[in-house]
Amino acid sequence: MDPNADVLRGLRITSLDDEDDDETELPNQPLPTTTATLAAAASGYDDEDEDEDEEAEVMLGFLEKPKHPGLLLRHLFPSKAGGIPAWLDPVNLPSGNSSCCGFCGEPLHFVLQIYAPIENNAAAFHRTLFMFMCPSMACLHRDQHEQWTRNQGNPRRSVRVFRCQLPRANAYYSSEPPSHNNSDKPLCAGAALCHWCGTWKGDKICGSCKKSRYCSEKHQALHWRSGHKNDCLQIINSSEASSSVLPAVGKVPARTSWLEYQIAIDDEVDLDSDGCDENSSKSFADNRCWAYFQERISRAPEQVLRYCRDPNVKPLWALSAGRPSNADIPSCSYCKGPLCYEFQIMPQLLYYFGVRNEPDSLDWATIVVYTCQGSCDQNISYKEEFAWAQLYPTSISRP
Ligand SMILES: [Zn+2]
Ligand SMILES: [Zn+2]
Ligand SMILES: [Zn+2]
Ligand SMILES: [Zn+2]
Repeated sequence: MDPNADVLRGLRITSLDDEDDDETELPNQPLPTTTATLAAAASGYDDEDEDEDEEAEVMLGFLEKPKHPGLLLRHLFPSKAGGIPAWLDPVNLPSGNSSCCGFCGEPLHFVLQIYAPIENNAAAFHRTLFMFMCPSMACLHRDQHEQWTRNQGNPRRSVRVFRCQLPRANAYYSSEPPSHNNSDKPLCAGAALCHWCGTWKGDKICGSCKKSRYCSEKHQALHWRSGHKNDCLQIINSSEASSSVLPAVGKVPARTSWLEYQIAIDDEVDLDSDGCDENSSKSFADNRCWAYFQERISRAPEQVLRYCRDPNVKPLWALSAGRPSNADIPSCSYCKGPLCYEFQIMPQLLYYFGVRNEPDSLDWATIVVYTCQGSCDQNISYKEEFAWAQLYPTSISRP
């Protein structure tokens, strides 16, 4: 075991670790120094390192089995991976093309969400980023190809990231911090969700029982074949059966999604400011870049997520090839302001999701997410942000 990883584990304190702090507060408020959360990174709130290093601290995300499932519900503002999303705005969900892969048309799978409110932005008192992806590697290849040839407008994507934010006073949650004593409740029910994936809005209703809901014909067909064919009759014959036969919201079978985890956050310690040398020759640069990538990762090999919302911080690229130039990063589709790096996901996530390392399996070097620097507030609940996928060259298998 890497000794650094042990140190990190010892320091790991998350906003979800509520058993020993009885003054859990919403992360927008000044945090006790022992509570390192994403909010600290998001707001630039920093308790002790101000004069240590000019470079902003990168926060690392690690996956843990949820201590109990109730911790990951939306009114507790979780950061989580796999399972189903805990929608921040539970009513105005992304729908239509936004919920589907731009290549194969299948509904996207939930990857992860990060609760990252912004201090001094009242509109982003609550703020969560949601990432979705098509599980097909063929689609991710096409996505990567398309990101180079992208025209301004609405490119086809197999990776989508949405930003949702709410002011402190809103229709869905109490303006007071959750008490974490099992009495917390959202203020209202959310939109009805698909009974198959539990992820997207269930706008389509089964024509026979008029009870079961789906996001897509594809999920209706899958549900029908996997048992609704029989259950449907039961539901029609007994009005009470629907509650026992149809899964409750949030209780969707695990086979339709990736394994569920909570995300724990740590500071990356001992930052090194080297970075990739932009002037090296290409193959040499690739080796250096890879070595640097490996070195940074080796400090905490289990990291699945790197987070830093600071305009001066650059993503950690695995390869020098396949990085975007400034011109490749679009401006915010809503306010036209600049986008900046906010987080990236690492290939270790695939291991936790149980994705096998086979030729056609989903794989990436890193996927970097750029979000609106001003975190603009427009009349759309889920604003799409920009993801850049860096894949390993097809001829080279993962080292
Ligand atoms: Zn696809
Ligand atoms: Zn569905
Ligand atoms: Zn039915
Ligand atoms: Zn914007």
